Amino acid sequence: MVKVVESISEWREIFESEIKGKKRLGFVPTMGALHKAHISLVERSIRENDLTVTSIFLNPTQFNDPNDLKNYPKTFDRDRELLEEAGCDYIFLPNREMMYPDDYRYILSETDLSNKFCGAHRPGHFDGVLTVVMKLLNIISADSAYFGEKDWQQYKLIKGMADAFFMQTSIIPCPLIRESDGLAYSSRNALLTKEHRELAPNFYRVLSSGKSIIEMKDELESLGFTIDYIEADENRLLAAVILGEVRLIDNVER
Ligand code: AMP
Repeated sequence: MVKVVESISEWREIFESEIKGKKRLGFVPTMGALHKAHISLVERSIRENDLTVTSIFLNPTQFNDPNDLKNYPKTFDRDRELLEEAGCDYIFLPNREMMYPDDYRYILSETDLSNKFCGAHRPGHFDGVLTVVMKLLNIISADSAYFGEKDWQQYKLIKGMADAFFMQTSIIPCPLIRESDGLAYSSRNALLTKEHRELAPNFYRVLSSGKSIIEMKDELESLGFTIDYIEADENRLLAAVILGEVRLIDNVER
């Protein structure tokens, strides 16, 4: 039975009495509205550790657009069922007041990569991500934490933060998981209209076509996508597009 832990002090008690020095702990941070890709991270953690905790916290500080935060899907009962079925041991479910006793006066920033790609289009987004992940890693004290390569830039920034601050938790990258039509799983996919959901797989198809970036942009725009960016980062192509109200990101090796 998955145990729901709703306060930091309760988690610390469990950690001190049942986990510390006895069990290997894996951690999967999420914002809820769980899907198969989230569960693949949880399953990996279960395979590699004695106990697994998944956090569900819709982190307000990483949303630069208030409407995006308001519309973000919230499906806790289903999330709990999926985690139960997967065999997750704990759900850490804090609220905003617990996570931000400082009212977000203390902010963790990176000064280079965080300003590129998604960072250039979502001001403050990665400050919010890094700050909350630092807090969560400090609270949970896991041996390993699992992050998806769907959020490639986020993974690189979190790995860099953990290295820069000599953090004790290992940061483990997990492969990007796609639906059968190629669309990367995302909690935001549920917000697409039927028409946009049918169009959406073209994003990955075009991104993995091997064409030039200019040709990719032209093709996606002519299909009805708004392009936020398509840019190369070393041997990866990173991209974000907008369909209606929904922003989608993806990345491929090239
Ligand atoms: P989120 O709830 O969107 O913050 O995601 C929680 C974790 O799941 C992050 O580490 C994401 O990178 C990961 N994740 C979300 N979607 C995918 C996907 N399609 N493939 C792999 N990992 C994913």
